[in-house]
Amino acid sequence: MSDELDIIGADLTVDLPGGRTVRFAHLDYAASAPAVRVAADAVTKLLPLYGSVHRGTGRRSQKSTLEYERARDIVAEFLGCRPGDEVIFTRNTTDSLNLLARSLPAGTTTIVFDGEHHANLLPWPSPVRLSAPSSVASAVDALTSALASSRGPALLAITGASNVTGEIWPVRRLADIAHAHGARVVVDAAQLAPHVPVSFDDLGADYIAFSGHKLYAPFGAGVLAGRQDWLDEAQPYLYGGGASAAVGDFAGDVTWSTGPARHEGGTPNLIGAVALGAVCDALLRADRAALLEHEQSLLAGLDGVSLFGGEVPRVGIVSFALPDPSGVAERLGRDYGIGVRAGQFCAHPLVRRLTSAATTEGCDTATGLLRASFGLGSTAEDVTRLVEALDDLS
Ligand code: PMP
Repeated sequence: MSDELDIIGADLTVDLPGGRTVRFAHLDYAASAPAVRVAADAVTKLLPLYGSVHRGTGRRSQKSTLEYERARDIVAEFLGCRPGDEVIFTRNTTDSLNLLARSLPAGTTTIVFDGEHHANLLPWPSPVRLSAPSSVASAVDALTSALASSRGPALLAITGASNVTGEIWPVRRLADIAHAHGARVVVDAAQLAPHVPVSFDDLGADYIAFSGHKLYAPFGAGVLAGRQDWLDEAQPYLYGGGASAAVGDFAGDVTWSTGPARHEGGTPNLIGAVALGAVCDALLRADRAALLEHEQSLLAGLDGVSLFGGEVPRVGIVSFALPDPSGVAERLGRDYGIGVRAGQFCAHPLVRRLTSAATTEGCDTATGLLRASFGLGSTAEDVTRLVEALDDLS
């Protein structure tokens, strides 16, 4: 990969008990990925010049507005937006999905599998909740019958890749079924976008949500992109400046903005958006097939829990059923200099299901699973260290 996608801080070290110092092996990309050079450079370049976006005629404001809108254009290209789509900058995926949930036309039926991260499970008003499927065929069947009994506007809210198993969901197949029934589809691409190219056409999505901090950019900027009509007809997400085009003398006499401004009330996170745009731009030019291949080779030595029983490919995320995952995670950090995550990963129904199906003694829902996740800059040595440490601790 090119220098611009080098991880900054990759040489971080940790002192282990006994006096040894090792390079920190960050295997928790699914929680937050470390930042890449191009994001840091974009921030450093803009900080001395920045001013308020869309709110001034001075040099700083003009530059900031230009850079903010350029970032939006890059994200649109990154996602392959079509005419009639718009890109709204949000705080993160959770924010994006809540925004869409508040923008649904009255009476919309939302359909969701309960293998979702809570961010894509909880925002929907009274969703039809389908059990996390155990095969692609059972997902197809469950969705088809849910759609057959829904009336009026409908939305399928589905993850691109699981934050627990790393499995890439058969989104395109399910989206085609949803569209055949006149429903729309939102894809939670928080875990997909960092690993594979994500586009509206390939996914068959009407909306895509993702987070900057999982895509090698800083915290605080995310994206909701997709069809403008519902978003323009909805009440603004935040009432205030920017969301309002004209305000009269009486309470309620407001003409709301249309387009992204309607839902970007207040002064936007220029630095976050620009850093995110810079990463998207670099990824557009990168050899992403090579990155995925590298991740697949890292995964080859690791066997974790699975929902689809190996039927679908994975991104660089794997979870293990083992006794005392929290204790193991703590010792990996303290004694081996390896950062992973233990618990239920904000996906309680899915982890409940996976832990109750697990045959490992001492593995239960309350303790959850142990997760390792990779991305740009992850090495075979990181994985070897993890495997050896897990062996040691077992
Ligand atoms: N969806 C998935 C699949 C995730 O993994 C996460 C974060 N763990 C989210 C949504 C929420 O992302 P954020 O915390 O950035 O809003």
